[in-house]
Amino acid sequence: MKMGGPSYVARLLFLFAIYFTTARLGLSIDAVNGFAMLVWLPTGISLAALIIWGVNYWPAVFAGAFLVNFLLGVPLLAALGIAAGNTLEAIVGAFLLRNVFSLNNALERLRDVWSLILAGGLFATAISATIGVSSLYATGVLTSFDYIRTWLAWWVGDMISALVVTPLILAWSVPRSFKYTRLQIGEFLIASSFLIFMSSMFFTSLLGINTRGLPITYVFFPPLIWYAIRFGQREAVTAVFVLLVMAVVGTIGGFGPFVKGQLNENLLLLQGFMGVASVTVMILAALVIERREHERRKDDFIIIASHELKTPITSAKIFVQILKKHFKNTKDKKLVHYLTTIEDQIDKLTDLIGELLDVSKAHVGKIILNKERFVVDDLINQIVNEIQQHESGRKIVVSHDAKRKVLADRVRIGQVLVNFINNALKYSPEDRDVYVSSEVFNNKVVVYVKDAGIGIRREHQGKIFDRFYRVDDRDKKGGQGFGIGLYISAEIIRRHGGSIGVSSKKDQGSTFFFTLPIVGNGRRRKGQFPLRYLSGGRLVRF
Ligand code: ADP
Repeated sequence: MKMGGPSYVARLLFLFAIYFTTARLGLSIDAVNGFAMLVWLPTGISLAALIIWGVNYWPAVFAGAFLVNFLLGVPLLAALGIAAGNTLEAIVGAFLLRNVFSLNNALERLRDVWSLILAGGLFATAISATIGVSSLYATGVLTSFDYIRTWLAWWVGDMISALVVTPLILAWSVPRSFKYTRLQIGEFLIASSFLIFMSSMFFTSLLGINTRGLPITYVFFPPLIWYAIRFGQREAVTAVFVLLVMAVVGTIGGFGPFVKGQLNENLLLLQGFMGVASVTVMILAALVIERREHERRKDDFIIIASHELKTPITSAKIFVQILKKHFKNTKDKKLVHYLTTIEDQIDKLTDLIGELLDVSKAHVGKIILNKERFVVDDLINQIVNEIQQHESGRKIVVSHDAKRKVLADRVRIGQVLVNFINNALKYSPEDRDVYVSSEVFNNKVVVYVKDAGIGIRREHQGKIFDRFYRVDDRDKKGGQGFGIGLYISAEIIRRHGGSIGVSSKKDQGSTFFFTLPIVGNGRRRKGQFPLRYLSGGRLVRF
């Protein structure tokens, strides 16, 4: 930041003016022993300004603090001492946060919130309180009797300002790239009405309810938590600030749960609450944002990694095919076997990578459907034939009765079917058949894949359609998968407006099913799916 330029001077004057005005406002409210202000916006404003613009803006703070106190009648030396304390508070706080903790002003990381609370809220403000109150004491304005009480009020007033006003300014100082959807705007309006309603109910007489002194401060947490969880840090800290303003105005007017005794005691209570509320809400918002960010990065990573993996695998496949052609007429059976095995493994790898890519796409709602009209039974025949070719030892028994057409993405529905059948083969003994059936039921085509395998315990049944969920069973045979096949299947079926589910009992096999809306009207039947298709247990349906 360059010093001495016109923008520097303009900003200095601006900061001085704001500091001076808000300080006068604070002074007009109420003070402990005439000096320690319980509503002290200047601390939060100066700390934020020095964090955003740089510590070299300190002269504005010094001048503002000095003038306010001097005009109040504080002796010259004490006023200088107080101004020095206030300035040092902003300088030390801003220096620690900018240079030592490398604060990111959006406050969207937990570490930023913690550093603001500790360095700005707790530590820097103690400097101002100590120097300020000591100056008053040294110049004989305060007695030793009043020292502790005044110090405490000074510290708390500054702290709340650093915890409520500083985050407000910091969060708004960072431009944001995303825009709200209409739905989010709607939700935001509802949350805001809720907050305004709550605070008007408790801090004004508008609704005719008298909440004077009632211990019901907890009612403010639901709206605040709503902001923290559903919106960003900016919205959360703004809500806290709005509540602070309403609470201060209400408490001064004699309304609300903080009205217990004298005004400065009431304000102290109020500040304590606001400090806790602000810290809680900021931490919560940061945690939620960080979690969202981690999820996004994980998806990005998987998408990039799968794309990168595709290239070498594609070329490996091409070279194996060249080799196979090259040794087309060889008598060496082992060589042919090795090459076929390599090719099979490459195909498996390609499928796995495809699944990984799909899971990320599904998570961000990017699975694209190419819908066409087709008869599901035809698709079942095709898929079962393909799988049966590789599974010569196992029988996949087909019995279908769904001749109606659906409008769906044939490849994606095939993928769901393949996943069901492969799971049925993977999680059931080698000597047991797998059954694939279909029927029309309540304007829908239902497809069932039934096995006589290990089954799924009830507590897992609802979760296996979640992302990356795998049942951790010791007796589970077959290779461990990624736990994403069913998640992708569920997403695909959901996007088609169908439902997906399972009926299963431990050790008694499972039936997985999905439904798809049919084109035109189908037969309507009452009741549940026919029992012959299911495997017992509760029917879990999504
Ligand atoms: P995975 O790649 O692990 O098979 P899925 O999403 O396809 O992933 O399945 C999730 C979990 O559901 C599996 O780990 C398995 O424990 C269980 N599961 C799926 N199908 C069956 C089945 N037919 N029988 C028993 N358990 C199954």
